[in-house]
Amino acid sequence: MNGLHGTVWLVGAGPGAPDLLTLRAARLLQEADVVLYDALVHPEIVALAGNARKISVGKRSGRISTEQRFIDRALVEAARHHARVVRLKGGDPMLFGRAQEEIDALEAAGIEYHVVPGVTAALAAAAELRTPLTSRGLSRSVAFATARSGRGTGEDDGWVDAIVGADTGILYMGVEHAARIAVSLIAAGKAALTPVAIVERASHPDSRTLRCTLAGLARGEIAEIATPAVLCIGEVFAKRDAEALQIAAGL
Ligand code: SAH
Repeated sequence: MNGLHGTVWLVGAGPGAPDLLTLRAARLLQEADVVLYDALVHPEIVALAGNARKISVGKRSGRISTEQRFIDRALVEAARHHARVVRLKGGDPMLFGRAQEEIDALEAAGIEYHVVPGVTAALAAAAELRTPLTSRGLSRSVAFATARSGRGTGEDDGWVDAIVGADTGILYMGVEHAARIAVSLIAAGKAALTPVAIVERASHPDSRTLRCTLAGLARGEIAEIATPAVLCIGEVFAKRDAEALQIAAGL
């Protein structure tokens, strides 16, 4: 231990599939004394922690902030009593992961911490779709956004401008309000025929993709969406059927 306190690693667990975990994350889990993990993390990943004490902090999106304060306190407490503490978060810890609150708590308590990146949901979705988020002539910018403010649904917080302004937009934590999100984007000037791909459970064996246009989404064409899922919005997501590709290739 460094003097009085242990060290905390904020570790990205990736989008779900256990083998998308980084080697560094796997090593830190094996060496950990305590692991605090989120609801979305695959049990096989948590199991890598061997003999560590494993604490589920079962947080899903949209719960109230007292719960976050509880996690912050638990993290500081763990570091006061153990040398190696891993805080395991879904995807990448630095995107929509409440990492700042935890970093603030650790800094206030004078605890050493490090961050280990993970594969974020947007990138797992791109892989699932086999569609690059950037594409020459079609998309030179990507926005990661959420329509959620952290306290309930949240009205417009600037996410609309981010998605309208970017060639490709990925919305996290948006599926419960998908139709309303589409209405807001069209009202703000995003073309109604912009292609949308909704990727459920990216990287899991039962991952599913639903496709429509922004107008279709606004009309409620997509009723049932399994979570977790991201909304992928932009021309790059236009379904390229094999025939069109053959024509383009002159076949
Ligand atoms: N830090 C995480 C995001 C946490 S917010 C990351 O970097 O991925 C939780 C949101 O992430 C969910 O509401 C959903 O929109 C998205 N998400 C997480 N895992 C996902 C997956 N496997 N497939 C699709 N979306 C996912």
